[in-house]
Amino acid sequence: MASLSLTNINKSYPNGFQAVKDFSLEIADKEFIIFVGPSGCGKSTTLRMIAGLEEITSGELKIGDRVVNDVEPKDRDIAMVFQNYALYPHMTVYDNMAFGLKLRKMPKDQIDKMVRDAAEILDLTSLLDRKPKALSGGQRQRVAMGRAIVRDPKVFLMDEPLSNLDAKLRGQMRIEISKLHQRLGTTIIYVTHDQTEAMTLGTRIVVMKDGVAQQIDTPQNLYDRP
Ligand code: ADP
Ligand code: ADP
Repeated sequence: MASLSLTNINKSYPNGFQAVKDFSLEIADKEFIIFVGPSGCGKSTTLRMIAGLEEITSGELKIGDRVVNDVEPKDRDIAMVFQNYALYPHMTVYDNMAFGLKLRKMPKDQIDKMVRDAAEILDLTSLLDRKPKALSGGQRQRVAMGRAIVRDPKVFLMDEPLSNLDAKLRGQMRIEISKLHQRLGTTIIYVTHDQTEAMTLGTRIVVMKDGVAQQIDTPQNLYDRP
């Protein structure tokens, strides 16, 4: 469970391009924040800075009370889910979910419990021995989420997690993500192009353009106004 605080965040890439400009946002514990905006406006860059996968050029990032600008990704209590799933094709669902925990050298019985608990939450228990190629698109996306929730992170970052799914599955997974948010009580930051996802999932929506947060408001205020 965690709040986040982004204060005057800037990102310049080594080639000099400024991808994020003076971005400030206070995120309360358990919020579901949506990032929307055209391709190239800086959504992924912002997520990657929060995850620690991209250096922050200037500004301050806090998770809870801790300034994390210089904290390693693995020590930030953050999990990220991408649109392309990024599953290991040669590993079973179980091993895909256990991988990050094994890297952290956790005891085997503890890993086993964490994997099985996450599998149960995501309805993956009967699929633990399968390899990704023997799964449907929706099942793969659930495994990708399983890999993220298995570590019990305080914050989830999701970068268009449903964009590779067909419309029907997208609708189902949207409901699952909403339930997951309620059940786990985590803070979520979620990038999407889909207005229905933004409207139904978001507690607040951040509209970005050219690296700037142009509007930050509730879905009702952004979309329902005449
Ligand atoms: P979005 O996620 O909103 O589509 P990104 O955050 O991926 O946008 O990219 C923001 C801008 O930064 C884009 O113009 C992109 O071309 C640029 N950009 C992304 N990565 C790099 C990089 N490594 N070097 C230079 N420019 C980059
Ligand atoms: P997995 O690849 O199964 O998620 P880890 O989470 O341990 O395993 O990731 C290994 C490395 O990859 C981390 O040390 C980190 O550098 C990077 N990484 C992977 N996922 C994330 C994430 N969500 N946030 C930050 N870094 C990540």
